[in-house]
Amino acid sequence: MDETLAHRTAGPRAQSDAASLRIARIEAIPVALPLRKPVVMAGERIDRAYNLLVRVASENGLTGWGEAASAPLMTGDVLPGMVAAVNDHLAPLVTGQDALRRAELAQRCAHALLHNTGAKCAVDMAINDLVGHHLGVSLADLFGGSLRETLQPMYLLGNPKVEDDIAEAKGKLDEGWSFFKLKIGIKHPLEEARAAIEIRRHLGDGVALCADANMGMTFAHARLFAERAQEANLLFMEQPLHSDDADGMAELARVSPIPLNGDESIGSLASLLSLHRSGAIQGANIKTIKMGGISPTVQAMSVCGALGLRINLAGKVAESSIAAAAIVQLGCVAPNLDWGLNITNHYLAEDLTDAPLTIERGTVSRPREPGLGIRVSESRVNRLRLK
Ligand SMILES: [Mg+2]
Repeated sequence: MDETLAHRTAGPRAQSDAASLRIARIEAIPVALPLRKPVVMAGERIDRAYNLLVRVASENGLTGWGEAASAPLMTGDVLPGMVAAVNDHLAPLVTGQDALRRAELAQRCAHALLHNTGAKCAVDMAINDLVGHHLGVSLADLFGGSLRETLQPMYLLGNPKVEDDIAEAKGKLDEGWSFFKLKIGIKHPLEEARAAIEIRRHLGDGVALCADANMGMTFAHARLFAERAQEANLLFMEQPLHSDDADGMAELARVSPIPLNGDESIGSLASLLSLHRSGAIQGANIKTIKMGGISPTVQAMSVCGALGLRINLAGKVAESSIAAAAIVQLGCVAPNLDWGLNITNHYLAEDLTDAPLTIERGTVSRPREPGLGIRVSESRVNRLRLK
């Protein structure tokens, strides 16, 4: 055991230390993070990531960080609203409180206002990071311990031309990546099915391939794509229909030869359970910004594990090493990750840490330092901060 932790948990000093984790300040920091190149998906083109950072400081001088991407087409959260949610509703609930009572604080925040899962997520992540630093343990250890220490993230392909997707994918394959997600729902489904088969032919049978439509398809087009893309051997087709169309997803699941994954339609544990009950999904894309924090994400993953739903744990394009570290920590405690994981900090032209989380030979290792396991650069944050 870490000497400091052993000391803190051993005697009267431990109790006084533990009681001292009072939250002195909580700050909402909006940032605009430039991407290396634009990411295009159905209904959305992203040049810059408009994210909310939350910095929480304790009276004993520790700092915790949290991050959530704005996601107008997924959570409905826009950045000014996220800042207001923290400043006007969540910060007053946690300032002056003991961060070690994190479960109670998370519950208070969850009940303080409807939705706003992005703002709740950033606050919850920052408090858990703070607690991890205080106790000297990583986020994975705070939430039950790691089942694995390394992960193989998926790479998103979304070029306008299939030749460019193939060239990019082959380059990444050579670098060691083994899991790819195609962005579909943009062109005609027959063209996209042909492209998927072509990409599979070039990458071979050894890689995992899946497709995400980001709600960009009609029922007829989704069915056509699923039927014609069978040769591509896709692991799953993600969110072909609009998030409101649960009946359509259930109907499609009955006829689709490709298993369906839910993403935009899963905004809570309740919606996940409802989609499972109707047979609409065989797996779930879980994001911290949709679930509203670390603890609800762990809960959703446990539920998926119990129900036999596949898990795809993902960040929104694009989040910095702060949120990426949270995803990696959570990926290491997930009961199963059959449908993969993606972190998105590598899409950024500039990250918020001096030593960003890196994917080497297609593999990312869990940071072992306390909390999220990363060191945020205040100067980078200040440079990319929106006034
Ligand atoms: Mg998706």
